[in-house]
Amino acid sequence: MLITCPECGKRISDKACTCPNCGVPIEAIGGSSGLSDQKRSVAVVFAIFLGIVGGHNSYLGYKKRAMIEFVLAVIGFFTIPVFGLGAVILFVLWVWGIVEALSYKTDGEGRLLR
Ligand SMILES: [Zn+2]
Repeated sequence: MLITCPECGKRISDKACTCPNCGVPIEAIGGSSGLSDQKRSVAVVFAIFLGIVGGHNSYLGYKKRAMIEFVLAVIGFFTIPVFGLGAVILFVLWVWGIVEALSYKTDGEGRLLR
């Protein structure tokens, strides 16, 4: 992917460590570098409080996973009256969400978490 160098305005690869034209370090360029705007610690907090409905995945930009967890949470909620089945689903979802948030190294766009 090509990004625009903030120093000289030249189109450069986001894989480059420094701009080949003016030498500015690419790490210094906020969101367009390989570093995510999101923090894993925040994702874990999201997972603890909203993990059942995919809160951590929404935060990190894993939209498809967040959607799947939300759907499973709805199924879990409605199946609680069925022998408490839903409670088991919700508990597994909650634990899974925390493990998932802890294991992420990148956000939904593949940028490294802070
Ligand atoms: Zn440059």
